[in-house]
Amino acid sequence: MNTNMKEKYFCENCRAENEYVIEKREMSGDIRGERYSFRGSEAVCKVCGEPVWIPEIEDANLKAVYDVYREKNDIISLDKVRSIPEKYEIGKRPLSLLLGWGEHTLSRYIDGDVPSRQYSDVLKQIADDPNCYSELLERNKDKLQSEQTYRNSKKAVENLMGIEGGKTEKIDLTVGYILNRCQDITPLALQKVLYYIQGFFYAFYGEFLFCDDCRAWVHGPVYRRIYARYADYRFDPIAPVEEFDDSVFTTRERAVIDSVIKYFSCYSGKILEQFTHSESPWLAARGDIPCGQPSDRIIEKSLIGEYFCEVKEKYEMVTPGDIQTYAVRMFSRL
Ligand SMILES: [Zn+2]
Repeated sequence: MNTNMKEKYFCENCRAENEYVIEKREMSGDIRGERYSFRGSEAVCKVCGEPVWIPEIEDANLKAVYDVYREKNDIISLDKVRSIPEKYEIGKRPLSLLLGWGEHTLSRYIDGDVPSRQYSDVLKQIADDPNCYSELLERNKDKLQSEQTYRNSKKAVENLMGIEGGKTEKIDLTVGYILNRCQDITPLALQKVLYYIQGFFYAFYGEFLFCDDCRAWVHGPVYRRIYARYADYRFDPIAPVEEFDDSVFTTRERAVIDSVIKYFSCYSGKILEQFTHSESPWLAARGDIPCGQPSDRIIEKSLIGEYFCEVKEKYEMVTPGDIQTYAVRMFSRL
């Protein structure tokens, strides 16, 4: 039994303000004539042991039983439905129209209504496949009421697909360059190297090299699109890129990228994870999220910019070669 202390609540049985504890236990609930078991929570009075009714806990139990129902019936999860508008940077209403549904249909699903199997399959498809969403957007853009809505979402989906007006993004070029220079870099280390390039480039030149936003994942900052591309390598080194034309970079871009590769890629992904876990941008973006809990929060570019400007100042860096001081210092502090 897993218990958690909680604040006081009025117990009807004791007629007093008592503390209650939350106990985790197996529960069951009926949905559409079928019984489903789930792991739920019950609040009980700490004094008399009688159950107390806490609305938030009842809501959580209801969500939990519906999560089981959805999984058993192969219906898209609520969390996944909710991720779609954010992923494609589009409102609930325009997305509903884009799908050819009533304007409030998607809002109802986001509030917890269970979609039919047919609607669920459509939602799953667009949630998992940016290409599929992109086709939908192009096909039905006339259903959107503003050109701006279309453009914002188009940008988001192209970002996810890794294209922007046919040109390769700087981050993709940088990945190619890193994979050409480092013959044994893992996905975890690659993410950190990209993050330091973004931060130090800003510190030295006052602008960001990558458009992509970085996310505060459990194991440190992550560029989601790049992560998805190499996820299959898991903890193994990514296959190197044999040939790379580095004339795509300016001299100052090369200076920062080369310096970060030289002084950071020599550490393992796990060591670099410890570096980023002690730095304020990742910590601030995580906030009070428990350490092992997944989160897709953006580490605001402004936080990254400010932090690395402070680092540059503190370590009295003059040229990108001085990035070494920071890497060595971070390692010595572990
Ligand atoms: Zn009581």
